[in-house]
Amino acid sequence: MLQINVAQMLKGAIGAERVLAVDDTLEITGYGLSHATGTVKLTRTNRSVLVQGELHTGVEVSCARCLELCSCPLKLNIEEEYFPITNVNSGVPLPSPDEVDAFMIDEHLILDLSEAVRQYTLLSIPMKPLCRVNCPGISVNTKTT
Ligand SMILES: [Zn+2]
Repeated sequence: MLQINVAQMLKGAIGAERVLAVDDTLEITGYGLSHATGTVKLTRTNRSVLVQGELHTGVEVSCARCLELCSCPLKLNIEEEYFPITNVNSGVPLPSPDEVDAFMIDEHLILDLSEAVRQYTLLSIPMKPLCRVNCPGISVNTKTT
């Protein structure tokens, strides 16, 4: 599940932890569907929910040498803080965190991991992916006439 209800966590004690299995498919812009599996740990901090985890996913890419499509496995080491937009007990809006691009927990107290997974996936795709380590490249016809 990439959408996690954290209502109980936000009402609970600081330092409380929750470990969740992730096994989900999501759309990666420009790369189609990608399947992510792994485990994430959620920790309630005094101002947020900290998400840490290691996810395995992969995308279809073109080999930089032979241009064949190949699947590129990716390992994502995720560490992100998610900030609630309202106080869970009073419903009072909370001030925005200082971080401009911080992830937010929505008004339904759902922490949505999919955008983080998408961003981490895009960042970890190699600039020059290879279908295999010793890919010889495009086979050139060297026949002379
Ligand atoms: Zn290749």
